[in-house]
Amino acid sequence: MSAPVWGYLFAILKLEVIRKVKLKLQYRRIGLISTNIETISMCNRKCEFCFNHPRFESREQGEMSAETWKSIMDQLAGLKFCGRIGPHFYNEPLLDKRLPDLINYTRQVMPYCWIQINSNGDYLNEELLLKLYNKGVNYFFITNYDEDDKADFNLLAAKYPALISVVKNSDMWRTDRGGEIFHKEKLLSSSCRRPATQLVVNWRGEVLLCCMDYYAKYSFGNLNNMKLFTIWNNDEFLKIREKLKLSRQNGYSICQNCDDPGAIPW
Ligand code: SF4
Ligand code: SF4
Repeated sequence: MSAPVWGYLFAILKLEVIRKVKLKLQYRRIGLISTNIETISMCNRKCEFCFNHPRFESREQGEMSAETWKSIMDQLAGLKFCGRIGPHFYNEPLLDKRLPDLINYTRQVMPYCWIQINSNGDYLNEELLLKLYNKGVNYFFITNYDEDDKADFNLLAAKYPALISVVKNSDMWRTDRGGEIFHKEKLLSSSCRRPATQLVVNWRGEVLLCCMDYYAKYSFGNLNNMKLFTIWNNDEFLKIREKLKLSRQNGYSICQNCDDPGAIPW
């Protein structure tokens, strides 16, 4: 390998080592390790295992303002956040034309965070992949919902193996979203560490219990008019997070019927 390639690999390794150390310290300090923050509500698909399927009541549609996104990023940066930032909840992130600019801002204020795009890949091409990478995206996790052999996906995955992975939908484990999507046997008394470690924000700026809460039934405050620190330390939010660490039966009704493993998410 040539000297510049070694230099490049060494730089990546150094960044990863620093990120891991910072993440460990951050976890000890604030517990938070990952975020799902949707910038828009829309998705072009209507998968049958998702609340976007027409058999479910639809939610209000819209987009988060760039100011709100930047304010959330500033507040995370103030916490020295270096965990995962994912611009998704029940949306397709690549539908948001502002995404490169929003990612660019995120990278500027949080040089060590891990920015990951989880997407259905319908709008992904090499140009957009490289554009987003150059703005600061670390990784693309693409689900192939059609299960077919998509030449474009295979090409991108072969060309940029460190940047993108493509999985078939049938290889993914699917939650039943608190028993709302379908019914199955489950572990009903296990603990759940999701709300204690993952920040979930919908396009309206509402901080939610977890990513099961499509209809925002369990919102602890709105980032359009409250500070993240205040919401994260809200009494009710703190209490429910502690209760769920013991058993999901201590949680809300959505928790009592939830099949999520409850592990610390990424
Ligand atoms: S692509 Fe994702 S967000 Fe869109 S409907 Fe399917 S599962 Fe839901
Ligand atoms: S038990 Fe399920 S619904 Fe409750 S917080 Fe955990 S993941 Fe969310």
